[in-house]
Amino acid sequence: MTTVTGYIGRFAPSPSGPLHAGSLVAALASFLDARVHGGRWLLRIEDIDETRTVAGAADDIIDTLAALDMPSDGPVLVQSRRKDRYQLARDRLGALAYPCGCSRKEIADSRVGTASDGAALYPGTCRHGLAPGKVARTLRLRVPDAGQAGELVRFDDRWLGRQSQHLATDVGDFVLQRADGFWAYQLAVVVDDAEQGVTDVVRGADLLDSTARQIYLQGQLDYPTPRYLHLPLLMNEVGEKFSKQNGAQALDLARPLEELQRAAGFLGLETQAARDREAFWTLALAGWNARFGPRP
Ligand code: GLU
Repeated sequence: MTTVTGYIGRFAPSPSGPLHAGSLVAALASFLDARVHGGRWLLRIEDIDETRTVAGAADDIIDTLAALDMPSDGPVLVQSRRKDRYQLARDRLGALAYPCGCSRKEIADSRVGTASDGAALYPGTCRHGLAPGKVARTLRLRVPDAGQAGELVRFDDRWLGRQSQHLATDVGDFVLQRADGFWAYQLAVVVDDAEQGVTDVVRGADLLDSTARQIYLQGQLDYPTPRYLHLPLLMNEVGEKFSKQNGAQALDLARPLEELQRAAGFLGLETQAARDREAFWTLALAGWNARFGPRP
């Protein structure tokens, strides 16, 4: 594995709506972590799933972060402009990636098991070539069989501790390119984290289940594996993840200090005493540093 020197963190929102209280938590934590490590913090617009892109949302998110004192420390990467990079990565995977002609229904009907995200496990139908009469719909990545080297992926999460996942039984051969032609998030995020030199990923725990897949892909592409920290998720009153899909409101930018304090409070940082943003940042950085800062 390549040794990483110099902290590079990132925040990678999908522009499916404005920044909301839930995504501000991830933005703030990743920003604080970069700052306490003396690192850089990069913004990336994850619009690879163009069916979910809302016009104007990317600029709105970038402007909101800047208004909250969190501008990107470098050029903002935009996934929809990087399809040639994902194609190159796909080419490097060679025969490990294979065309699959199965529909979602066929996979569900095969009932070989349930993946950790609740979806039906892929039964491996097209692993050794498209079944007769089938046309390629998606591109899948072959994962090692149960019991084979590399099948069990382990990593130490900086918030949640030791994690592990069995690729064969918890995930299955996963999609790299979707039936509608768009590259899958799993491939794009791995290529982008590597090309931006990201050493530390700080993001919501809704992505914990994707991490083993990403670590496996990094290994196949000879990329270094960053450190990971998965944050607890902000829930709404009915216990759902706070997200654009369930109608989370945009932030109230007339009250930036209050919005920052709310996000910091959710992360367990004591910033209520701050009367202005300068004081807020001092308290938030000290609080994060005490818990997650570099150790001598
Ligand atoms: N684009 C993802 C989201 O908005 C974040 C992906 C990541 O941080 O790896 O939920």
